Amino acid sequence: MEYFCKTCGKQKGDAEGWLLGFEGSGKPGRVMKYTINLLGKWDEQRASERNAVHFCSAECKNKYVWQSYGDDTWDK
Ligand SMILES: [Zn+2]
Repeated sequence: MEYFCKTCGKQKGDAEGWLLGFEGSGKPGRVMKYTINLLGKWDEQRASERNAVHFCSAECKNKYVWQSYGDDTWDK
């Protein structure tokens, strides 16, 4: 399984320090809203999950979160 940085498109290869997030679904009982949960580390098992997004660095992760979610990332 190959992974690519969601922000810059870099291929993972053997690189370390990649980060993982999971997009989607929102929580039951709430208004449906696009959300992201950031794992903050790499987990090979979970990296292949359907809604996983991959980042080569914290910088790319932050960039993506800002671009996609702006100020609304976190639950208020
Ligand atoms: Zn990147």
